[in-house]
Amino acid sequence: MHQADPTTDRVISSVLRYVDYRLRTDDVPLDGQVRSRAELDSCLGGVIREQGRDPDEVLDLYTSVIAPTVLSADSTRFLGFIPAAPTKASLAFDALASSASLQGISWTEASGIIAAENSVLRIIADEAGLPPSAGGCFVSGGSAGNLSALAVAREVAKSKAGDSSDGRRRTWRVVVGQSAHSSILSTLRLLEMEPLVVHTPHHRLTAEALASALAQETDLSTVAAVVATAGSANAGMIDDLAGIADLAQEFGFWLHVDGAYGGAGIFAPSLRPRFRGLERADSFIVDPHKWMFAPFDSCALLYRTPATARTVHAQRAPYLEVLHANGEWNPSDYAYHLTRRARGLPLWFSMAVHGVGAYREAIEASLCLAEATADIIKDTAGLELVCDPDLGVVLFRRLGWSTADYHDWSAALLTDQIAFAPPTTWHGETVARLAFLHPNTSMDIVKTILARMW
Ligand SMILES: *Cc1c(COP(=O)(O)O)cnc(C)c1O
Repeated sequence: MHQADPTTDRVISSVLRYVDYRLRTDDVPLDGQVRSRAELDSCLGGVIREQGRDPDEVLDLYTSVIAPTVLSADSTRFLGFIPAAPTKASLAFDALASSASLQGISWTEASGIIAAENSVLRIIADEAGLPPSAGGCFVSGGSAGNLSALAVAREVAKSKAGDSSDGRRRTWRVVVGQSAHSSILSTLRLLEMEPLVVHTPHHRLTAEALASALAQETDLSTVAAVVATAGSANAGMIDDLAGIADLAQEFGFWLHVDGAYGGAGIFAPSLRPRFRGLERADSFIVDPHKWMFAPFDSCALLYRTPATARTVHAQRAPYLEVLHANGEWNPSDYAYHLTRRARGLPLWFSMAVHGVGAYREAIEASLCLAEATADIIKDTAGLELVCDPDLGVVLFRRLGWSTADYHDWSAALLTDQIAFAPPTTWHGETVARLAFLHPNTSMDIVKTILARMW
């Protein structure tokens, strides 16, 4: 299994041939045929047996049975949820990282990798306006980033309140807007904190809404943090970061900015003003596997004061002490994880090859697609924009349609391989949703999608 032999030789050439083909495919097929569990079990059951199989036979099963069921998140026609559009450079380098089992746990084990990852974190921190002391690590995704950051926020609140000394346990609360991501609520459940949900009639947490919610609270001493979203996963809306930062400062709350999707907007010159206030965040996350064109799975997690995060997350064990003794910077100290892939490296390679300017342009391209789509919707009788897009997400309604009409339209778009565009809800009403992220999505695709509403 571990040496070069004729079987390994064929494994390598067959798999690399497929990787080569896939990387060179310019517009990948959308795919995404859903097959029943029984059907798939009958194809895949018994494949793994006591004795091995011919590698080409197994690879064939992947290409004929498994691959067609995968909705290609990197297709220009994938306009659902938050798409992905990894650059060829990042995908190719991800394959390289796997080929060498690259890991990024500690300085002792992989100093060069960590220095390269940190250089990317530095660029993101600079763009966000965070101080030179800011730092962190790459984790698997926004959910993991939010969990790790809010765990630190809770510990900081606890130590400020001196909970350990008076022996009193309190339930810590975190202020969130109604559009905060589901992973924030899930994190709060895990950390046994309570959300203090601020009503946001316009889906944007504003200083005004936050101030009036806080004014109604009798005891703010249990508030550990406030979470600002930039921007929301459903509609791409950016909270009033500057106004929220003012209040966080005034009340002494930890400010966490969830920019898993929209945080990449700091690279777009046209969005600059919207991110004012981000420079005052105590923690900030952005998922490069979303709008920074990196492969899954990757979230950049940054802290204003990384040393505080280290006291919360560093794992101690006799066999690990050597890492702490020699460690210049151990990514494992800054989140809930120990072993980790060098998941920041594909982004490092791609940013170095293409330059930051190409990233700015690609992000602006998706903003233009959203704007052009919104313009068509405004000009088309029978269509109505739900709200003006802040980022790349466009919500709209087809007047007179029922919930079933939206679902039928969306299902037909996928069956005909035109697009993946599942509807969403807005104040309980089902509406159409297009999330633009791939810079090569064409307006022709958009026009076809809209024409299919008649
Ligand atoms: C996608 C998203 C998350 C969750 O990120 P994962 O990488 O899917 O775990 C959190 N917050 C926001 C705003 C998001 O868009």
